[in-house]
Amino acid sequence: MNEHIWQAIVACDPAYDGRVYYGLLTTGIFCKPSCKSKTPNKQNVRIYSSPEEAQRDGLRPCKRCRPDKPIHHSPDVELVEQLTRLIHERYHDSLTLSEMAAHLYISPFYLQKCFTRIMNMSPANYLKAIRVQAAKAMLAETKMSMTSIAHAVGFQNSAYFSSVFQKATGYAPTAYRAMMLEENGGNPRLIRTSDQ
Ligand SMILES: [Zn+2]
Repeated sequence: MNEHIWQAIVACDPAYDGRVYYGLLTTGIFCKPSCKSKTPNKQNVRIYSSPEEAQRDGLRPCKRCRPDKPIHHSPDVELVEQLTRLIHERYHDSLTLSEMAAHLYISPFYLQKCFTRIMNMSPANYLKAIRVQAAKAMLAETKMSMTSIAHAVGFQNSAYFSSVFQKATGYAPTAYRAMMLEENGGNPRLIRTSDQ
């Protein structure tokens, strides 16, 4: 399964709603990625590209998120969804407001205004939040250096990364790593063993 889709399911993030559905073979129910129901066991999840496809597999629509009902989105909500999806997929690149706007074929000014109204934060702050989230996982799960992590999540340098991280979490990246290490009894939850 595409890791971005799985992350959206875990975070109840609407970025993929209307494009992707997930079925739970254990319960016979299918949901939108944003469904607030309990996070399913990854190995029981099957991904579908339409409600019809899930129904052909014998699954019933969830009563909570109603994946069988079409989503009536205003063009602005649609735009916000496109941008959150773009940010999830490309947060590690340098993504300026103008680049994001160019991607979606609208003006930076309009994108900024519309996103901020619907999400209560600017695209830049959403991007930062996604980067910090990714950095947290790398700090806890790898031995990568601060510079490598800063670059891997899209920051130009580690000093800027450090200041954004600290502002968002209350911890310096090194302190956060030490804390996670301690929580795991001195062993990093290693997924990657070195810088890549
Ligand atoms: Zn559901």
